[in-house]
Amino acid sequence: MLDTIAERPAPAAVASARPAAAPAVMLANVRKSFGSTRVLNGVTLSVKRGDVTCVIGPSGSGKSTLLRCINALTPVDAGTVVVEGIAVHDPALDKLALRRRVGMVFQQYNLFPHKTALENVMMAPIHVLQEDREEVEARAVALLTKIRLLDKAHCYPGALSGGQQQRVAIARSLAMRPTIMLFDEVTAALDPVMVKEVLSTIRDLAEEGITCILVTHEMGFAREVADQVCFTDHGIVVEEGPPEMIFTQPEDPRTRDFLGHVT
Ligand code: ADP
Ligand code: MG
Repeated sequence: MLDTIAERPAPAAVASARPAAAPAVMLANVRKSFGSTRVLNGVTLSVKRGDVTCVIGPSGSGKSTLLRCINALTPVDAGTVVVEGIAVHDPALDKLALRRRVGMVFQQYNLFPHKTALENVMMAPIHVLQEDREEVEARAVALLTKIRLLDKAHCYPGALSGGQQQRVAIARSLAMRPTIMLFDEVTAALDPVMVKEVLSTIRDLAEEGITCILVTHEMGFAREVADQVCFTDHGIVVEEGPPEMIFTQPEDPRTRDFLGHVT
């Protein structure tokens, strides 16, 4: 069943309307150590197509590593990771096929400083996918319009605010037409107004049916927008469920303790 889905990638806009036969992302018993540091100790998590999942948990609990295992930036030691039918843990993995589906945005904006906003958005489809420049430009203009930054198309990153840079970074990922987006603390370095702008961009993506997985400290966003909240501690998923459950009736004392400190 997973293979069938892998052969028929759906446009993101209709992804959520499809039968939820297989999860978009599935991790089972994922383990990862760096030297003697055990970072993931058997992570199991399932993310439905089109859902927004917020991953919360203390610093050092393995949240970034978990995200990086989903798009093969970090190889796993054991366990399985399946992303839209692609076995990410398979040594024969086609990384390009995976990365076309999975976009990732980090806390640091890491835009190319000597390229304009528009050029940043256009680069990967032209250089990685060898797509037609005119088509890519039209798509990039549409994306900048969508994030309400068309007027900054010819600005360099240094002339943009942190929030604007982060939205360009999101548009740059979207230019590859992913069906899944990973966000690693993308608002952590921003002031409250910019946090709002960036979260509103992410909310729009979610409404279009793109599967979003966010590591975030924005509990308000998690409460309001997430379909699933996942609390990690010491390299395991301690507890996951709908936000109303995690925030109002957490079952595990570790979740209660964490939420007591951050909310
Ligand atoms: P979080 O995102 O929850 O703060 P991380 O996944 O970044 O947690 O890191 C969990 C632990 O793994 C930390 O102790 C960190 O130092 C360690 N770690 C992460 N990446 C590496 C790496 N590439 N090499 C060595 N240690 C790492
Ligand atoms: Mg992190």
